[in-house]
Formats: sequence, C-alpha cells, structure tokens
Amino acid sequence: MSTKKQGGTEGPVEVPEIISILPLRNSVLFPGSIIPIDVGRRKSVRLVEEAISKERPVIGILTQRDARTEDPGEGDMYAVGCAARILKVIKLAKDNFSVILQGVSRVRILDYQSTDPFITSRVTALPDPTVADVELDALVLNLKDIAKRVIKLMPELPKEAGALVDSVTEPGQLADLITSNLELQVEEKQDVLETFDLKARIRKVLQFLSRQLEVLKVREKINTQVQEEMGRNQREYVLRQQLKAIKEELGELDEGGGDLEEFKDKIAKAKMPPDTEKVAHKQLERLKVMQPSSAEYTVTRTYLEWLVELPWEVSTDDVVDIANVRQILDADHYDIEKVKKRILEYMAVRKLKADKKGPILCLAGPPGVGKTSLGKSIARSIGRKFIRISLGGVRDEAEIRGHRRTYVGSLPGRVIQGIKKAGTNNPGCMLDEIDKLGHDFRGDPASALLEVLDPEQNNSFSDHYLEVPFDLSKVMFIATANLLDPIPPALRDRLEVMELPGYTREEKKMIARKFLVPKQLEEHGITPDRLDLTDESVAEVIDGYTREAGVRNLEREMGAICRGVAVKVAEGSLKDGEKEVVTAEKVPDYLGPQKFQSEVADRTSEPGVCTGLAWTAVGGEILFIEVTRMPGKGSLVMTGQLGDVMKESAQAALSFVRSNAKWMGIEENFLEKTDIHIHIPAGGIPKDGPSAGVTMFTAMVSLFTNKAVRADVAMTGEITLRGLVLPVGGIKEKMLAAHRAGIKRVLLPERNRKDMVDVPPQVKEEIEFIHIKRMDEILQYALTEMPDNWKANITAQVAAGTDPTKPAPTA
Ligand code: ADP
Repeated sequence: MSTKKQGGTEGPVEVPEIISILPLRNSVLFPGSIIPIDVGRRKSVRLVEEAISKERPVIGILTQRDARTEDPGEGDMYAVGCAARILKVIKLAKDNFSVILQGVSRVRILDYQSTDPFITSRVTALPDPTVADVELDALVLNLKDIAKRVIKLMPELPKEAGALVDSVTEPGQLADLITSNLELQVEEKQDVLETFDLKARIRKVLQFLSRQLEVLKVREKINTQVQEEMGRNQREYVLRQQLKAIKEELGELDEGGGDLEEFKDKIAKAKMPPDTEKVAHKQLERLKVMQPSSAEYTVTRTYLEWLVELPWEVSTDDVVDIANVRQILDADHYDIEKVKKRILEYMAVRKLKADKKGPILCLAGPPGVGKTSLGKSIARSIGRKFIRISLGGVRDEAEIRGHRRTYVGSLPGRVIQGIKKAGTNNPGCMLDEIDKLGHDFRGDPASALLEVLDPEQNNSFSDHYLEVPFDLSKVMFIATANLLDPIPPALRDRLEVMELPGYTREEKKMIARKFLVPKQLEEHGITPDRLDLTDESVAEVIDGYTREAGVRNLEREMGAICRGVAVKVAEGSLKDGEKEVVTAEKVPDYLGPQKFQSEVADRTSEPGVCTGLAWTAVGGEILFIEVTRMPGKGSLVMTGQLGDVMKESAQAALSFVRSNAKWMGIEENFLEKTDIHIHIPAGGIPKDGPSAGVTMFTAMVSLFTNKAVRADVAMTGEITLRGLVLPVGGIKEKMLAAHRAGIKRVLLPERNRKDMVDVPPQVKEEIEFIHIKRMDEILQYALTEMPDNWKANITAQVAAGTDPTKPAPTA
C-alpha cells in the first residue's frame, strides 16, 4: 500500500491498493487541481453512489483514449491516471450528478480486478520525488517567469494568478498546476501526466507555455491592427450605437426623434455636394444621440439647419436681353447716360463670355446718387435676386468669413448669410461701401473679401462656420464706394469703376419730378390729384433744405411734405376733391425754416477770406479759408482740423508770399512783427489734401495787400514754391458744388482742362472757368482790386529784364 501526502485541510489522503475507476472524457486530472465533472453513464453513476456511501472516498480517474467510447474497457483508457478525492456530489437529476474532484496523486494501473458494476483496478501511487538540483531550480524560475508573462497577456485570468504561481514551491506541483490551466490537447496533457521525471516534465511544460506565449503575442498584435483598421469612423459609429443604447435605457432619448428624421429628407432635398452631404449626415447622427437640452444640441442643430437651407443647387436663369436691360435702367434712373452705357457694355460682354469671369463692377460716387438703386436694377434686369451686404465699418474678418462654431452664438459670415437670404446661389450681390472696410487685430476683412471676389478661388469659398466649401462663382458682385483712394490696391485691381459724381440743380429737379415725387406719392398713398408739388417748391427744397451731391435728402424732404399732406387728408382739413398745391412759399409750412442759407450771402468781401473747393466723400463742397494777422514774432497757427498735407501747403503758400512780397506790393519782412493764423471753418470736419494751396495763397495776399477777394469767385489747385499751379482731382464734383453755391467764376489749374468734359453743360453755361498756370495769374481774377503798386512793380521789373511772375528757370 502506498500513500501520498497531500496539502488538504483534512490531513494526508491514502490511496488504497484497489480503487474504483471512473473513466473521464476530454480531460485530464492532475494532482492538486480541482475540477467539476458531470456523471451520467450507468456504470459511473453506480460508482459515485457507492463511493459516497463511504467515508472520505478516493477513486481513480483515467482519461479515455477516445472520448466517443461509451463503455470503455481495459484498453480504452490510459494506464496512468490520477487518484482523486470526491469533495462534493450534487444530484442534478435521477442518474445525473455533478461531482467535484480533487486530484491527489499520480497512479499507474497494475491490473484490472472487475468490470461490473464498474471497473476496479489495482494501482500503485507515484508521488513526485523530492530532489535538490540547481538545474531544476533554474527550470522552475524560468517556468514561473514565462507563466507570469502569459498571465499578463490573458486579461481574462484573475489578478491573483500571478501570486498563485509564486506561492507554489514544489516543482512537480507547479508544472501540474500550469498544465491543467493551459489550453492543450488531451494527449498533450496526458503526456505531461505520464512524465515522472521532474526536469523532463518542466521542459515539456516550458515548451507548451512558450508556445502559448507566442500565440498570445500574435493575438495581441492582431488585435491592435484590427482596432487601427477599424478606423475612427467605425469606432465612432459603434460608440454612438452604444451611447444610443445607454440613452434609450435611461429614457433620455430625444422624444422628437421624428423631427430629426425630417432632416434626412431635407438633406436629400438640399442637393449638397457629396462631401458636404456626408458632413450633414454625420452631424445628424451626432444630433440623434444628444441630449436636446444640451448647448451642443442647439449648436449642432443650428448648423444642420444652415446646411440644409443654403441654396446649393437653387439658381435663377439669366435672361440677358440688352434691350430689356436698357429699358429697366431707363425706367429706374434719370440720365447718367455714361454709366448706363458702360453697364450695358458690361452685360453684353457677360452674355458673350461663357465663363462669366470678369472684373467686378464698382459704382463710385457720393451718397444718394443712385448706386444702390442701380445695383438693384441691374439684378432685376437679368432676373436675378438682389442682396446687399454693407461693409461700412467692418473690421473683423469674421464678419466676412464667419465665426468658428466653437464660439457661442457663432454664425456664418455676411456673404453666406446673404446667399441664404436670397435663396439662390447666383444673386446680384451688392458690396456696399467697400471703401469703408477697416482692419485691425481681428484680421483683415479685405483679404477675405478678395477671396470672395477672386474667380480662381471663389468656387470653393470656405466660411469658418460652415467648414464646407460653397460655390460663389455664380454670384454677380457689384461694389459701391464713396471714394476710391481708401480701397486696398489689391481689391481695387479687381474692380471696374464707374463714377457717379453727383447731380446739378437742374438734374435734381428732373429726377424729383420724374422719379422722386411719383415714388413718394405712391409710398404715402396720395394720388397725384390731391397734391401738386410745383417745380418752384422742388427748387426751394433743393436750395434751402438740402446740400448734397445726390438726391437722398431731397427724396426724404419730399417724403416729409407727402406725410404732411397725408395728415391733412386724414384730418379732413383737406376736403375730398380738393388739391393741395405746394408752392415755394408753402414749403416752410411743411419742412420748417430753411436749413441752409445761401452761402453767397454768408460771404462778406473782406480782406483775408477766400473761397475754396474741396472734394469729400459726400461729393464736392465749398470751403472758406480765413487768414488773419496779429502782433507777434512770425509764427504760423493753423486751426480747423487740417491734415498734414494741407498744413504743408499752407507753409508753401506763406513761403511763396514772403519770397515774392516785393512784386505783389507787400511790405518786405512783414512777418517780423506779425503772427499769422489760418482757419478753415466747419472745424469739426477733418480736411486734407493739397488742393487748397491756391486758396490759402490768395487769402494771404488779400490780407497783406488789404484787398478783398471777390465773393463770387472760388478756386482749387495745388501750388509749388516756384509759383506753378498743379492739377487736382474731383473736378466735376467741385464744379457741381460751386454751381450749387452760386459761384460765378472758378479758377482752376490749366492741366485740369481735360476734366471739363465731364462737367454738365448747364454748369458751364452759368460759371466762368479760368484755367491758370502760374500763381501770379490768380490775383487779377480773384481780387476785387489789384494791389496799388502791383502794376508799377511788374512793369519796372520786366523792363529790367526779370519778369518776376515767370517761374525761375530750373538748373
Ligand atoms: P446711393 O446708393 O448712391 O447712396 P441710392 O441708390 O440709395 O444712392 O439713391 C437714393 C435715392 O435716389 C433712391 O431712391 C434712388 O432711386 C434715387 N435716385 C438716385 N439717382 C437717381 C436717378 N438718376 N434717377 C432716379 N432716381 C435716382
């Protein structure tokens, strides 16, 4: 009889010489391990029944060579097995048990004793020998090391597995423990069971373990590869599905899911480019799993709404019929023939050119000259929608290009907003006041605008909010500007400028009669048989209530009169059938006292004052230059918000007067005891530019010679220290302003003669234009009286062979 010590709590277990044999399929029991088995075969059931009737039963477990053998006999089982203790028997049904076994010791079958009612055999126990050997120690260390590495790669194993490996001290037991937990073939396990030599057994287990390690490593590698291949999208999809499931579970899913479903249709209907459509669908998927009360939900929803509402594929068909265009332009606008002609040319070229790429029209001129309404007419004449984007004061690039969606309340830029409003992707788009575009630290809106206008880039304009490209190439852009100078050069290059300089008094009268009055009557619901705005009253409004190059205020004042009449009609003070005739005298009843007195009346002819002509954003203006003197030491004071260029031309004028004092009859060294003050009234308005040079010069001469400048004379021109008069800009606007102010004679540079073609004939008829080359020529036309010794001086000097009024020859 052989025994084997086991570390059980109930002391050593004896293995009897003859034991009952339980055949096992598909598994090998090792000493020290605990396994549950199902018992259902007749013989096995009998065996268990009998065994449990004994105290501390020990049986033999032999693995079948072929699992399919139903009633294994002698040769059907391996000859080496494991003695086991029955720890627990659970009756599952009649003739069916679950038995928990604990391996106790290796046993070898010596011979079979009986086969009925179950097999019994004579066995010999084969306990592991106890040997101390360095090689064995090394093998054990190796085994533990690899075992722990395998455990690490198997997340399904409990964390304690590593510690368990460490705690086993018997080499044989360790090998058995590891083998029983490895996924091996039954034959392999049996092989380990039959290997009694410890070193050989450990080597075998090491081999299996290393194989397992390799398999796990490869598995991990494949896992990461697969994960990478799954890609972000797919993973996101899986996560979203999971999130959706969680939300469903929590009852947090959007109740109005149906309304989100509508988006699907809308996306389909919007006919976006394929890439954009993908983005839209992705956003919709995101939306579906979001909490409707979250801020992110609102942001995403708004974004999606923008995407589906933009006119990706909606456009109007152009009807470019030049005769029709002409007709519409004429119906909306009086005169401005030159501009209309160029618009027609522009449209004709557009019609012929297939790619539609070309310069952008820019209508330039003071306010109220009809730039906006021309833009509208152009769009209307070819059947396009019209939108207007005001650029005045836009400093932030984001106004053009939109804010990124990360900002709270962000929106697309004005261009995309306009497109959405138009509802078509080819509207006429007016970029109003392109000259007022600013820029600061928030980026340069002009460069964003360049991208909008550039035919090479604007077919995929990217708005920061949309983040998907939008095709702007079909939009017809029309810019407007008051002044051309402030427009950044790069932008200006793209523009085809058409100037609208402003209207004369007569033109304004015609515009009022033909367009403004009928329009205002209609707007106020007054029929022409109730109100007669006479030509005199229109003239009175133009002179006494407006001072402008355009007709915007005129239109407003006409509207005010109409409102007054409408009140009378409503009150009943204007009886049915009666007609209100507004004469010039009646205008103050409607509009109050005159807002502008005639400037001519303001001007007193006294020495030191001279009228100049200026060009501003609101058209031409007249301005008065006043010069006065006081005791002092020759300093020059300038007030009235003069810019640097204007101040320099004042200095130049003074230097010229000083160096030419003699022939002008001015006391030489007059500055020694005198200070000079130059002031230009309307001090609140900044003024700049060199064109007031001649005016300042004349005012100074007038002061020092004590001869007044004629009240009905105005002038413009730049000066040089050598006495030349150089050309200036804005001639037409300036002449119109002079005409408005009732000026009778204008002095202007000789080299501006070419610009006179633009001046309306009526102005030419009523004003005497004198072109001058040199500053000395000015005085005889401007002063009321020539300086006393002027003639004598000139004559004397010419006689001496030096004509002081001629510029000195240049070296
Ligand atoms: P702008 O854009 O140049 O400031 P608007 O287009 O707003 O000017 O014009 C102001 C008003 O004057 C509009 O009602 C416009 O119809 C009218 N108007 C301007 N010029 C003319 C013109 N030549 N004929 C008829 N109406 C005009």
